[in-house]
Amino acid sequence: MERIKCLIVGGGPAGYTAAIYASRADISPVVYEGVQPGGQLTTTTDIENYPGFENGISGQQLVDTMRAQAVRLGAEIRTGAITKADLSERPFKLVIDGEKEVEAETLIIATGATAKYLGLDSELKYRGLGVSACATCDGFFYRKKTVAVVGGGDTACEEATYLAGLCKKVYMIVRRDVLRASQAMQDRVMATENIEVLWNCNTQEVLGDAYGVTGARLLRKDGEVFDIAVDGFFLAIGHHPNSDVFREWIEVDKEGYIVTDGKTSKTNVPGVFAAGDVQDPLYRQAITAAASGCRAALDAEKFLKML
Ligand code: NDP
Repeated sequence: MERIKCLIVGGGPAGYTAAIYASRADISPVVYEGVQPGGQLTTTTDIENYPGFENGISGQQLVDTMRAQAVRLGAEIRTGAITKADLSERPFKLVIDGEKEVEAETLIIATGATAKYLGLDSELKYRGLGVSACATCDGFFYRKKTVAVVGGGDTACEEATYLAGLCKKVYMIVRRDVLRASQAMQDRVMATENIEVLWNCNTQEVLGDAYGVTGARLLRKDGEVFDIAVDGFFLAIGHHPNSDVFREWIEVDKEGYIVTDGKTSKTNVPGVFAAGDVQDPLYRQAITAAASGCRAALDAEKFLKML
């Protein structure tokens, strides 16, 4: 069976940065990119807050460059996702795509997080037919139309303002009477004429016909039930960490985020490290993910040296 010195799971800023550092440390990293190579950055437009790019850079370009940098330095990048893990002893045993089995001396988990949905049957029914969790991926299809964005955090505000640039009208469906987002994003939403915030509202049902979404039925806190007509229904209510496959072995918090030891990337299993959004419910930025990928590679290097 193939034995890998440093196996990195996840192809986002955390995984690629870990690969860059691990390559330079000569610990022969192999990256399995997972189901969404490039991670969540591939679903954003311009990134203005990643240092080093005075005029911003597109999310896709940023991850493509990180990936190319890792490859140039010697990392091997492969397609595939981990479907099973046995971390009971080293070398760890991992199954890729339900088929191939590999062994790893160290493991860096950088599998990121995935968008949450409300859990409505109607939402599931129209997924891909007007229901989406990625405005920047799908917004283009709703040019000059009316859409709704659910959520009141930074993501919801960002997506609503992005969609407002494309669409005729954007409703924001917010379950409380305040936004959770940063003040700057709140200000941007309030200053955008074609965004209407529907406060204290929860979605009861996504409405549609054979062609897709036609509206949403909302329940306001005062008891009023009313429908809005929309062509697209976007979720922006947070994320779920992609730690499921490792939970049998790795300590996670109540939401499933991997618990790491203090300022290090160490998990409860020696030789297994975690980086990026899968272990970070708080900051979730490309730059913080990249930084934690660096830490994980340095921790893995140190671990291998101590053996
Ligand atoms: P958040 O957890 O910050 O916000 C989620 C929002 O969705 C909240 O308004 C929440 O409501 C609402 N919500 C959650 N569940 C439901 C539900 N079942 N029905 C209706 N509404 C619901 O997630 P984000 O993805 O917005 O942000 C995550 C982190 O990433 C934050 O730290 C954020 O600051 C950061 N971020 C930063 C960006 C930037 O700096 N450019 C861009 C995007 C995100 P309630 O408030 O009532 O809980």
